[in-house]
Amino acid sequence: MTLTNSEYSNIKILIAEDLPADALLNEREARKTFQNVSLKIVDSEEEFIRALNEFKPDIVLSDYNMPGFNGLEALKITVAIAPTTPVIIVTGSVNEETAVECMRAGANNYVLKEQLRRLGPALQHALEEKQTKEAHLKAQQDLIESEQRYRLLFDLSPIGVILQNENGFIINVNDHICEMLNYLSHEMIGQHISLIAVDSTPEDINKNIVDILSGERLKHELKTRKKEGEILITSITETSIKMPDGTIGIMSIVEDITERKKNEELLKKKSEELTEQYKKLSLLNINLQSNLKLLNQTNEELASAKTIQEKMVNDLKIAKEKAEESDKLKSAFLANMSHEIRTPLNAIIGFSDLICEKQLHDASIQGYREIIKNSGDRLLQIINDIIDLSKLEAGSLKLNLVPTNLAHLADNAFKAHVRTENALKKKHIIEMNLIIDDEVKELQIKTDPIRVQQILDNFITNALKYTKQGKIDIHLSRQFIKGVNSIVFQVKDTGIGIPAEKQNIIFVRFRQVEEEGYHQGAGLGLSISKGLTDLLGGSIWFRSSPGIGSTFSFSIPIVDAQQENSQNNTSRYKKDISRWSIFIAEDDPDSSILLKAILSPEQSKLSFAYDGFELIKLLEKETPDLILLDLNMPGMSGYECLERIKKSGIPSKVIVQSAYAMAEERNRCMELGCDAFIVKPLTKKELFDAIEQISSTIK
Ligand code: ADP
Repeated sequence: MTLTNSEYSNIKILIAEDLPADALLNEREARKTFQNVSLKIVDSEEEFIRALNEFKPDIVLSDYNMPGFNGLEALKITVAIAPTTPVIIVTGSVNEETAVECMRAGANNYVLKEQLRRLGPALQHALEEKQTKEAHLKAQQDLIESEQRYRLLFDLSPIGVILQNENGFIINVNDHICEMLNYLSHEMIGQHISLIAVDSTPEDINKNIVDILSGERLKHELKTRKKEGEILITSITETSIKMPDGTIGIMSIVEDITERKKNEELLKKKSEELTEQYKKLSLLNINLQSNLKLLNQTNEELASAKTIQEKMVNDLKIAKEKAEESDKLKSAFLANMSHEIRTPLNAIIGFSDLICEKQLHDASIQGYREIIKNSGDRLLQIINDIIDLSKLEAGSLKLNLVPTNLAHLADNAFKAHVRTENALKKKHIIEMNLIIDDEVKELQIKTDPIRVQQILDNFITNALKYTKQGKIDIHLSRQFIKGVNSIVFQVKDTGIGIPAEKQNIIFVRFRQVEEEGYHQGAGLGLSISKGLTDLLGGSIWFRSSPGIGSTFSFSIPIVDAQQENSQNNTSRYKKDISRWSIFIAEDDPDSSILLKAILSPEQSKLSFAYDGFELIKLLEKETPDLILLDLNMPGMSGYECLERIKKSGIPSKVIVQSAYAMAEERNRCMELGCDAFIVKPLTKKELFDAIEQISSTIK
C-alpha cells in the first residue's frame, strides 16, 4: 500500500534516544517525510512505557544503545503494549546478529545513523505496514464477532435450524429444533435427515438435495416426526450454504406450523360454516324480503280492500239514500200520476153520464162537451207523453224530417196558446209576445215540425203554468250554438223561477221542483223536450232565478235550409173543397160521424166505406179527389188498400188517419205513397192543414 504525504496528517512519533542531537536528526528526517508530526522524545524505559500508554504513537523510533535501556527491550515492550505500532531501530552501529534478533523480535526496520536519509522511506513503509496490520486485526475481530453473532442466532433462534451435508446427514442442529422434536442434539447429529422426514422417500430426499445444491431455494410443507413418533406439520425453507470447512452443505429452517395449520383448518371450517350460514341467511333474507314484499302487497291489498270496502259502504249508503229518495219519489209520482189520470177521467165519465140524462138543456150539454173535450185532451196529452218518453228511452222514436218553416210553426203555436184556457184566464195580467227575427222568417229547414212544436208547446205551457203576472216573450233567432248554425227558440217568463238547488232535476223524468203534495203536471214535459232536442241534433238549456223568472231555450240545427219564396208563402190559402168528391173509409161509426161533421160545412160530396173491400168497390165506380183512409179496418186493412190504390195508379190523394201515433206507421204509409198522415183523435184544424198541404200539389 502506498500512502501519500497528505494522508500522514499529524503522525505521532515516539523517539527513544539518549543523545539529543541524534534525536534532533531523527526529528528532521521525520518532518521531511510528513507535514504534521508530533514528536515525543524519551531516554528511559519508564518514560517509554508511559509515552506508549499516554502519547499512543503511530511509530516508535528507538536507539539501540541507551543507558539502562536498549532498542530490543523497547521493541518487546511495544509488542506487548501496542502490538500494531511499528518499531524502527535507529542505531549507530549494529552487528548482523543484533539486527536479525531485532527483526525476529518484531522490529519493522532498522536504519543506521550514518544512513539517516533511509529513515523517511522506512517511516513510510512502517506506517503502511501498521495500517495493513490494523486492517487485518480488524477483519479478524469482525469475523470473530460475526461468528459469535451467528452462533448466538443459531443457538437462540426461535426457529429450528438443521445443517446437513451434501449427502443429507445432519451435521448440526440448534436448541430450538431439539426442543421441537424432543431430541438431544447428539441424538440428531450424524443421523440421516430421513430420521425426521416422515413421508419423503429416499428418492424425494435426494432430488431435494440435488435441487438445493444446484442453487435453488426450496420452501415446502413437510410432515416431521418427533422422537416419540408424534407427527408435526412443518414449513421448511432450505438453501445451500458454505460450511466452515469449505464444503457445501444445506441449511434447513424449520418452523412448526402444526398449530397454525390446525387453526387454519379450524378457520377454514369456520369460514365454510360461516359461508354456509351466510348462504342460509341470504336465503332467509331473500325469503324475508319476499315475505316483506308480500306483507307490503298484503298491506296494500288490505288498504285497497279497505278503500273498496269504504267505497262500497259509501256506495251502499248512497244507494240506500237513492232508494229511499226514489221510494219517496215513486210514492209522490204514483200519487201525482194517479191524480193526473183520474182528474180528467173523472170529468169525462161524470159529464158523459150527465149528457146521457135526457132532461138536460142543450146549453148545459154544450158546456159539458167542452169539459169532456178538455179532459180528453189532457188525458191524451199524458198518454202521448208516456208513449213518447218510453220510445225515447228505448231509442225507437223516429223522426219525420220534412222541409219546415219554423217561423210559421212558432206563429201557429203562439196563436194556439193565446187561445188556451190558461192564457185566457190570465189575459189581463200576462202579456204574451212573439218576436221572430227577420233572418228566420223566410227560412225553411229540414226537421220534424211535430216534435219541434211539441217542445215549444211544452215551454209555453210551463211558462203559462208557472207565471202569475208579468209577461211571456217568445223569441226566434238565428245563432251559432256549440259551433252549429241554429234556430233558437227562447221562452222567457216572469214567473216563480227555479231554486238553484233544484235546477239539476228538472230535466229528469217525473221530477218537479215541488214534489211535496200534488202539483199539476206529470214532470215529463221537459225530459221529453230534452230527449227530442237531442234527437233533433239541437241543445236545450235554461236560466232561472226564483222570484224573477225563467228563460227556457232550445236550438234546432239549420239543415238543408232554403229561403222560402215569400210570394208562395203569402199565397197560402184555405183550399175550396166544395167541388171535391171525398171517400171516407172508416169502420168506426163515431169516427165517420166526426169526419162527416167536420166536412159537411164544406159541401163536398162525401161517400162512406165501412171496410177496405167497400172502398175498393167504390173506387171501381168513381175516382174521388180525396180518400180519407183509416188504417185499422176489418177484412182489408188500410195498408193493403193504400198499396192497391197506388199500384193501380188511381190519382186520388190519400190522407191516412190512424190511432197509431208511431213514426213507423207514418213512415210505412209514406213509403206506400200516402199524401198525408194525421193522428187520431184528429181536430178539424189538423184535417184542414193536411188538406191544405196536399192541395198545393193539385192543379
Ligand atoms: P211538469 O209537467 O211538472 O210541468 P216539466 O218536465 O215540464 O213537468 O217541468 C218540470 C218541472 O220544472 C216543473 O214541475 C216545474 O217545477 C219546473 N218548471 C218548468 N218550467 C218552469 C217555468 N217556466 N218556471 C218555473 N218552473 C218551471
